[in-house]
Amino acid sequence: LQMEAELKQAPENQALSVVYQPILSLADQKILSCEALARWQHPERGMIPPSEFIRLAEEGGLIAALDMWVLRQACKQTREWQKTIPGAADLKVNVNFSDKHWAQTDLVDRITGILQETGLVPGDLILEITEKALAENRTLAAGLPGELQALGVQLQVDDFGKGQSSLELLACLPLDALKIDLSFVSNMQEDATQMKIIQTIIQLAHNLGMKVTAVGVETPAQRDRLEASGCDFIQGYLVAVPQGCQQMTDLLRLAFANPTQNDKERA
Ligand code: C2E
Ligand code: MG
Repeated sequence: LQMEAELKQAPENQALSVVYQPILSLADQKILSCEALARWQHPERGMIPPSEFIRLAEEGGLIAALDMWVLRQACKQTREWQKTIPGAADLKVNVNFSDKHWAQTDLVDRITGILQETGLVPGDLILEITEKALAENRTLAAGLPGELQALGVQLQVDDFGKGQSSLELLACLPLDALKIDLSFVSNMQEDATQMKIIQTIIQLAHNLGMKVTAVGVETPAQRDRLEASGCDFIQGYLVAVPQGCQQMTDLLRLAFANPTQNDKERA
C-alpha cells in the first residue's frame, strides 16, 4: 500500500521518468520510431523494474493515470525531436497501453486532447496493446480500435505469440503491426522451433496486411536471419538500449545526420 501511495506521487516527485528505445526499419536502416518505457527511481529502493511497478499500478488502479502521463511526455518529447532534429520530422513514438484502459469510455477524447496539447500528429503515435486486451475485451475491442483508427493513431499488438490471440480478431481489427515477443527472438539461433514460429508470425502478419517488429534483437546474426525472413523492423540492444532523453537526442542527431548505405545508393 505504501509503494502504491509512493507510485501515485512519483510523477510530481520527479521519481518517474521515460526512457526511449529506437526501432529500426530494416528496409532503409532508418530509425522509424522510439518506444517510450516508464522508469521509477524509488528514493530508498532504487530503480524498480517496470515488470513490478506496472503490476502494482494495475492492481492499485493507477495504471490509466501512469500510462496517460507517459503518453503526454512521449508525445511532447517526440514533437520536440521532430522540430529540432534535421531529418526527424516523421519520427514516430510507440507507447505501451495496459489492458485496463479498454474500460475507459473517454479514452479517445483523452488521447485526442494529449495530441492537440503536444502538437503531435495522430499518425505519428503508435499504441502498443496486448493480446490479452484483445482477447478479454471482445466487445470493447470491436469499437475502440475503429475509433482510434478513425483518429489516425496506429495500433500494434505487443508481446505477440505469448497470449491468446483470436485469429478472427487479428484479421478484422485495424491493426498496423505485430511485435514478436522477445522470448522467441532470444532463442531463435539455438532452437529451430522458435525460428519457425517467428517465420510463421511474419507470414501471418504480412498475409493480413500488417508489418512485423522483432523485439530483443541483440546480435548481428539474429538481425540477419530476421531480415532474411522478411521481418520489417527490429528493436533491441543491437540497435540501442533504452536511453534517457538527452542520450536519445544525441543518438537521433547522429542517426539522422548520417546518410545510410541505401541513401547513398539512391543518390
Ligand atoms: P515491452 O513493451 O515488451 O518492452 C520491451 C522490453 O524489452 C523493455 O523492457 C526493453 O528494455 C526490453 N528489451 C528491449 N530490447 C532488449 C534486448 O535486446 N534484450 C533484452 N534482454 N531486453 C530488451 P522494460 O523497459 O523493462 O519494460 C518491460 C515491460 O514493462 C514492457 O515490455 C511493457 O510491457 C511494460 N512497460 C514499460 N513501460 C510501460 C508503460 O509506460 N506503460 C505500460 N502499460 N507498460 C509499460
Ligand atoms: Mg512494448
